[in-house]
Amino acid sequence: MQTIKHTFIGPIRQAVTMAGLPLKGALKDEQLEIISEAGILIKNDKIHQVGNYWDLYPEAQSIGAEMVNLKGDFVALPGLIDCHTHICFGGSRAQDYAMRNAGKSYLEIAKAGGGIWDTVTQTRKANLEKLVQLTLQRANRHLKDGITTIEVKSGYGLSVAEELKMLRAIQEANESTYADLVPTCLAAHIPPKDFQGTQRDYLKSISEEVFPVLKAEGLANRIDAFIEETAFTADDIHSYFQKAKEMGFDITVHADQFHAGGSLVAVDFGAISADHLEASTEKEIELLASSDTIAVALPGASMGLGVAYTPARKLLDAGASLAIASDWNPGSAPMGDLLMQAAVLGTYEKLSNAEILAAITTRAAAALNLHDRGQLNLGMLADIVLFPTADYREITYQQGRLKPSKVFKRGIEV
Ligand SMILES: [Zn+2]
Repeated sequence: MQTIKHTFIGPIRQAVTMAGLPLKGALKDEQLEIISEAGILIKNDKIHQVGNYWDLYPEAQSIGAEMVNLKGDFVALPGLIDCHTHICFGGSRAQDYAMRNAGKSYLEIAKAGGGIWDTVTQTRKANLEKLVQLTLQRANRHLKDGITTIEVKSGYGLSVAEELKMLRAIQEANESTYADLVPTCLAAHIPPKDFQGTQRDYLKSISEEVFPVLKAEGLANRIDAFIEETAFTADDIHSYFQKAKEMGFDITVHADQFHAGGSLVAVDFGAISADHLEASTEKEIELLASSDTIAVALPGASMGLGVAYTPARKLLDAGASLAIASDWNPGSAPMGDLLMQAAVLGTYEKLSNAEILAAITTRAAAALNLHDRGQLNLGMLADIVLFPTADYREITYQQGRLKPSKVFKRGIEV
């Protein structure tokens, strides 16, 4: 028989629950549910009650809850969610970064041995243990910053064996961290230089030899593809996604990063999310807004490349759902600071606090097709972050500088 454990946290100056918000469209701060002088009662790994601290106190005491008495000012938010990262990789691309800032072109960098292929080489060199360790380090850094759920993509293996190695490393890392790692197969990241055959042959080999193993070993339930001139065309991807859908995988797309087009494929296939969208025009924005596909902005990639941000304001005003993720990767987004990037995107795109916070909590959960987190609400996972402030607006105001002082994952303080 499972023993029941209760935990009671409070008093919290403001609990910003992120509950009751629409999934799509613009949000105003007035729509946020903010409970003052709040208490959160946890039962095992889930939230049992959120309400006034003094109202809940007698019940918490009578059921023998472990009391986490807070002294000082705290704001509670649901654990943050980073719905797009590439934190399983070997090597560094500091040289690329310097070359790009010195004005070298994509092609010149690739000729000097840089680009995604360099990370593929470094990642293939790393053995499973090394990859587990590197992924774990990065996941735990994120966890410390309050990010309790982290999507992690493969895509630096680019062969049947190496893609499986990456996904097994992500699975192993997941078992060794309190954070939840959500794996995604991105074998369709770029066409591998060393594959004998056409791009379609490569995709066919992945769908035939990798997809069944993902199912059998529970390695991933999400299939991603980079649709771009330098990666895969919409035509290439069609039968690959078809096969993925037939097998019951969720679809997600690296779309419209440099050229528009990928988001059309995303919407066509009923993708859970379309990520990047820096090059989306009115046409793609309208299409995404009229679909259930969540738009994911990746400001870290814009900062890393020195290019325009995703048109987040236009997407929200058109009625789309917007999540924000770090895209943490060794090439275009090496910083990996989700909160800082979300706050800065907010200043450029004129996003409300509600829009920014929803984009890294409840809407980011939806972008991962997860419905048990992203809100401080009855029955949700007890993933809770506490920021040392009395006013939730300080979180975006300090532009990521204010870090949480306490993080709870599934009811456990980490
Ligand atoms: Zn990415």
